[in-house]
Amino acid sequence: MAHKVNQVARNPDTGWAVWGQRSAVSRLLQAIQQGPAHAYILAGPNRSGKRTAALEFARTLNCPKDVGHLTYCGECPVCRRISKGVFPDVTVFDLASQAERDGDKSRNLTLNIGTIREISGAVSYRPTESSWRVIIVDDAETMQETAQEAFLKTLEEPPPYAILILLTSEADAFLPTIQSRCVTIRFGLSPASEVEAALIASGTEATLARRVAGMAQGSVGWALEAAHDEGLIESREGLARQAMDFVLANAYDRTVRAVLLADEFAKDRDGVFTRLAAIQSVWRSALYVNQKLEDTAHIAGLGPISERFIPLGLDDLLRSIRSLDTCVANLEANVRPRLALESMVLAWPRLGE
Ligand SMILES: [Zn+2]
Repeated sequence: MAHKVNQVARNPDTGWAVWGQRSAVSRLLQAIQQGPAHAYILAGPNRSGKRTAALEFARTLNCPKDVGHLTYCGECPVCRRISKGVFPDVTVFDLASQAERDGDKSRNLTLNIGTIREISGAVSYRPTESSWRVIIVDDAETMQETAQEAFLKTLEEPPPYAILILLTSEADAFLPTIQSRCVTIRFGLSPASEVEAALIASGTEATLARRVAGMAQGSVGWALEAAHDEGLIESREGLARQAMDFVLANAYDRTVRAVLLADEFAKDRDGVFTRLAAIQSVWRSALYVNQKLEDTAHIAGLGPISERFIPLGLDDLLRSIRSLDTCVANLEANVRPRLALESMVLAWPRLGE
């Protein structure tokens, strides 16, 4: 059964609809309390709540109702218009808004100069209905160097009412001159228990919430979508099963699978990266179980993970997790795929074969 979830519920801890990002949210709340800076970089994995946090920040700054400490009412015309994306003093720019403006003429893989110009235009207008003009720039990691140089001009002398918030999946995507003018706040992967809490608070039934949280790989955004899309759940379960088989295979079979994956890389790069992420998540869950860090370390509905991981040492597990990072970095640096993948499996400990 699929329970439709449209929106993430507000977290009672903070009043914001962000879960599993305690330190990032508390830094943003502190900023509101002390008077916000003119520019922020929110850096962290895709779908970890950065955009929601930026919008909650804007609502909290702009909601005119006195609803107590550092939150917003969610019901007044200002809050409602921010949610609909039609409040004039809060604007979001991203690849999608750029594609809409450009009529999909370009491939829209990077934020272009036209968008940067639009952003500086938006920054220069005084807020019309509140004290702050909040400009949120999503997909900011796609800005090429020329776009960044143009953007830097906007950052150099922002008007006193302007707050720029860059959202990026890569913290180091920006020129040092941009980074030095922004306060960087990092988002991480949410613990499965927090993902589960977010789903339950948002109306997902408990059994489904636990199942989805176990395979969400730390992403509340993915979990909320998957909670009403059985197809997403099934495809991730399939990937996880294959990843688990790969890890539990003997040395010979691991090498065979590595070679097959290497051959696949020429045809389907992204597909291979997705599989590697699933394998990474098997080793991470193994680490959690092994070190008793989290009791909900189930992988994609496979149930509690294999007891064969229990006797492993911490070194073995960390080396295996690192082998995935190295493999991805090597593939991105055009190392021969067979070499990259075979070295990866050689770093893994044997699992009682
Ligand atoms: Zn309000």
